Amino acid sequence: QSQELSQVQIDYHAALQTLLEDGTRMVCTGRMHTDRICRFESLCYSTEAEEFIYFHSNSSVMLPNLGSRRFQPALLDLSSVEDHNTQYFNFVELPAAALKFMPKPVFVPDVALIANRFNPDNLMHVFHDDLLPIYYTMQQFTDLDLETRLFFMEGWSEGVHFDLYKLLSNKQPLLREQLKTLGRLLCFTKSYVGLSKITTWYQYGFVQPQGPKANILVSGNEIRQFTKFMMQKLNVSLEESSSEEYIVVFSRTINRLILNEAELILALAQEFQMKTITVSLEEHSFSDIVRLISNASMLVSMHGAQLVMSLFLPRGATVVELFPYAINPEHYTPYKTLATLPGMDLQYIAWQNTAREDTITYPDRPWDQGGIAHLDKAEQERIIKSTEVPRHLCCRNPEWLFRAYQDTKVDIPSLIHVIRQTVKSKPGTKKKWSGSLYPGKVRDARCQASVQGTSEARLSVSWQVPWNLKYLKVREVKYEVWIQEQGENTYMPYILSHQNHTFSENIKPFTIYLVWIRCIFNKNLLGPFADVLLCST
Ligand code: UDP
Repeated sequence: QSQELSQVQIDYHAALQTLLEDGTRMVCTGRMHTDRICRFESLCYSTEAEEFIYFHSNSSVMLPNLGSRRFQPALLDLSSVEDHNTQYFNFVELPAAALKFMPKPVFVPDVALIANRFNPDNLMHVFHDDLLPIYYTMQQFTDLDLETRLFFMEGWSEGVHFDLYKLLSNKQPLLREQLKTLGRLLCFTKSYVGLSKITTWYQYGFVQPQGPKANILVSGNEIRQFTKFMMQKLNVSLEESSSEEYIVVFSRTINRLILNEAELILALAQEFQMKTITVSLEEHSFSDIVRLISNASMLVSMHGAQLVMSLFLPRGATVVELFPYAINPEHYTPYKTLATLPGMDLQYIAWQNTAREDTITYPDRPWDQGGIAHLDKAEQERIIKSTEVPRHLCCRNPEWLFRAYQDTKVDIPSLIHVIRQTVKSKPGTKKKWSGSLYPGKVRDARCQASVQGTSEARLSVSWQVPWNLKYLKVREVKYEVWIQEQGENTYMPYILSHQNHTFSENIKPFTIYLVWIRCIFNKNLLGPFADVLLCST
């Protein structure tokens, strides 16, 4: 892999002529800056001004053409973190004629994906904010393939996990600093700017306390397609053979320690009659960790970024997340949300240290490692006395940092007890796909009414099974029927097992009823309602 851009030969004179004549062409998807990705031809970048440039000519295109709304607040988010004001993208406009007075452009022949990494030194952020979004942005646009050149514009150096970013394409990703070495004015022949947010599941608490995103759009299937790709690139093969089952304890070695790790490992091994091993980011290669986790039955770890590695656990495995004293597990759920995504098929268990004598605090450390010595005495005392960190915004809440960087002596009986509430026999894995498919609409719905006297009537409704049922193995098929009197906004709901039913309760003569019918597979897979039936008694 070389850093030179000249792998694809281009005719410099022709490229320059095209830029002068056609200018920049941009067409974007998305209605808001937060869901926008733009495709450009001839987007340029001044490495001196550190600004992108849009050249106007007779043939240039700018869609959306927002006028000054382009600055309210920006054209788009460069990272997958929504509407963060350090991650905005925009460009400066110039007439193409200005090129005559500018440095000679250097053309980037590769198709480029231009984006920001959010926090490349933190493994959770690396996977959630960068790797998954880049992978699925590349799946969205056919121009973006393994020959794509990634450009990271956030301004960080490579960071400790750069090897992971390199797996996403065959070309060396380039950083903002490196662009200076390529020239004063760079022009991307074809580029995409921005990242898809469709796979993200967590918001970090910049405007409201952290928690799962409001509208999660990813399932375990897409997560596992991504991990399959990563494992292929890492040369880690899934061991299909039923080799020995084991538990992995993922330990931290710098801070937020488990103080009685040896005792914990022994207890887990004994309780579940399984080999129990430890791994850490400091002592194992990334591939080794992936290899071990991808065949583990249970992953036990302190709350922290290393837990994002549960992405690689096999279906059926159990995640046990340990929380230090005064940290409410319900308030910090990036890994719970991941483990419980539909189709991830993982069991999730949280344990919290509730014993003050089992925690070690570090009030004298620097503030970013949880020290509180810089706060006034009363505030220090309040924090030390407090039994729970109140909900807070990201990222510098001293009480949160103080509690997050405690070390913990894990109370083994209480931990085993909470695990046993969920894992009854042996923790296990299941290799089989257990995807759930939804029913289609019921078909040929009909109704027939009969009137008995002046105050009684019956409604007989029948329908056919959904068309896709005959191709599926479904444990249980039921139907939900709503009967609504026309003009009323309430309805009577029924759950039925057969494909016809005669309703007589609360059915009045000479009335029009709306009948809504949908199919339900296996108790919770609700299908769509068929077109409403109009029935007059
Ligand atoms: N980290 C680690 N071992 C440690 C402490 C941290 O490997 O003892 C890693 C951690 O997994 C993350 C990064 O260093 O990728 C930053 O850790 P930090 O405590 O700042 O973040 P958190 O884990 O709380 O998200």
